[in-house]
This record gives sequence, C-alpha cells and structure tokens, in this order.
Amino acid sequence: MTRILVALGGNAIQRARDAGTWSDAIRQMRRTARALVAVVRAGHELVLTHGNGPQVGDLLREAELGAAEIPPPPMHVLDAETEGQIGFLIAQELGRALARARLSRTVLPIVSRTEVARADPAFRAPAKPVGRFYSAAEAKRLASLHGWTMRVDPARGGWRRVVASPRPRRWLEGEAVRSALDAGLGRSSVLVVSGGGGIPVVRSQNGGFDGVDAVVDKDRAAAVVARQLGATTLAIVTDVPGAAVGFRGPRPEWLGNVTAGRLSALLAAGEFAEGSMGPKVGAGLDFLRAGGRYFVITDVRSLPRALRGEAGTRVGRPG
Ligand code: ADP
Ligand code: MG
Repeated sequence: MTRILVALGGNAIQRARDAGTWSDAIRQMRRTARALVAVVRAGHELVLTHGNGPQVGDLLREAELGAAEIPPPPMHVLDAETEGQIGFLIAQELGRALARARLSRTVLPIVSRTEVARADPAFRAPAKPVGRFYSAAEAKRLASLHGWTMRVDPARGGWRRVVASPRPRRWLEGEAVRSALDAGLGRSSVLVVSGGGGIPVVRSQNGGFDGVDAVVDKDRAAAVVARQLGATTLAIVTDVPGAAVGFRGPRPEWLGNVTAGRLSALLAAGEFAEGSMGPKVGAGLDFLRAGGRYFVITDVRSLPRALRGEAGTRVGRPG
C-alpha cells in the first residue's frame, strides 16, 4: 500500500460560483468523493487534508455580526470549528460513497494543531488578509477595539484585517497518527488531518501550547504532515489542472512531467503567484527534499490519473 496524502483546496469543498449553502457543499463534496473512492479502490492508503479559507472567513463574519450578543471567539478557535465542520462533511459524503462502493473504511477527522515559532518573522509583519472589506472608519475602530492590524487594498478600495502566516514547524498529533497508521489503521480508515493548515499554536512558558491568531498555509502544512507520516506521495488538488508557465499571459504552458530543478527555477523566477500556486510548488519541493517520492498538482477529476502519473504537474515516480 502506498501512503498518499491528498490536500484538498477550497474548490473541492465549496465552489466560488455557488451560493455557499450547506447543500452546495454536500453536492461538491459528493463530486470530490468520487475521485477519492477511486484512489481507495486502487489500493492506496489515503490520508486527507483540506483548506478552510472561505469557511473561516464566514465564521469571522458571523462572529462579528453576533458580537453584541455572543462574545466572539479568537480566530484560532474558529479554525478549530472549521476542522469539525469540514471533517464532518467529508465523513458524511466520503463515508457514503465508500460504503456504496463496498469499501469498508471509517472516515476519521482529527482535530489537529500546528506548532509555529513565536519568533517567526511573519508575526512582526502580518500580511495575510482575512475576512471582509471595511471602510477606513470601521477599520480604525476595529483596530483599536481588538488590536487587529488593518491594511488597505488599493485594488479593491477597502481595508482588511491582516494576520501573520508563519511557517509550520510540527503537526502536534503527527507522531500518534503515524504510529497508528504504521500499526495498520489506514487499512480500515481514511484520516482527515490538519484541516486549514492546522490550528496554529506556540509553545507556552508554563508547559503546553497557546493558540495564536494566524493563518498557516494549508499546502505548507501538508508538506509537514506528509513528512511526519512518511507518505510516499503528496497530491495537491486545486481548481486548475496543474501549474503553468505564463499563467496570466495569452498562452499558458501547462507543466506535465517536470524535474524538481525546473520547478524550483520557475518558482524563483516568480512564475507561481504568492498565496496561491507558489506555496503549492514550494510545499512539493519541501516534500521531495525531505525524501518524498512523488508529488503532483492536479484538479479533482484528474486525481486518479494523476496518481498513476498520467495527469497533473508532477515530479518523481508514482508508487
Ligand atoms: P486552493 O484553494 O485550491 O488552495 P488557490 O486559489 O490557493 O487554490 O490556488 C490555485 C490558483 O492558483 C489557481 O486557481 C490559479 O488562479 C492560481 N495560479 C497562480 N499562478 C498560477 C500558475 N503559474 N499556474 C497555475 N495556477 C496559478
Ligand atoms: Mg490556497
């Protein structure tokens, strides 16, 4: 059995063109589940991780609207909520699809924390926008009320809260999950871990960990998870068929089979946008450097073929 970590992007869970209802999410997860069933049927040991950008954005807005009645939870608690919400959605729909295919697997979501360093330079220069846009006056009020850092987005003419996006160092539950998988848990279960990049925590002075309000990039976190699990394959599933050269230009060249060296050079040349394709390619390169064997970026429908080395932007050999 090949241990495969599949990282699902926002689009695999909720499409931007849908209204964002729970039924929309169910419908989209059913489509995603079809591809995942094919992966399990092919005999792989499947572990999932997923993004949470739109979901945590909604919860932030909800917390803000309800603040007069219910004290808004810190952002990292909202991250924890999205792990439950999306974990539940995957358990329901992937569980149903696996049962229909007569594959007996329990879908097992695990609330996961990601350790980041208190001294990470990202905390001194928060740059990741979260939540909605505000007027200058509202932005000022929220900054003094909650101590938020606000930044104006000139392109869209509004102010937004920005938080740090520190580098993930360790998935806290990783060792426990690794030993469970090594003991055979993956034959009976599909684990869902480190959703939204994991809940960001820092080591606290008096033992344990403290939650911090930050955003851990889910693709960067996926590379850490894949390394800690000793996965042989990392597949990043998004809304495009792979990475392209000249993506914004008139004739994008979609990359197929490539070397790590070429990807690395293209990343350095700025071909992959920061905050979207850049971290995916960066995560893949980290994974390969740490001993990973096969890395692929693909869309949901092509996932089964991508895992056979027949689609997607890919490096290495499928197991
Ligand atoms: P996800 O939610 O799946 O993580 P992102 O929006 O973060 O998705 O990243 C995927 C997006 O990256 C694509 O929809 C595309 O618009 C963008 N992108 C930026 N640069 C590139 C590139 N060079 N090749 C392909 N896609 C790119
Ligand atoms: Mg993303």
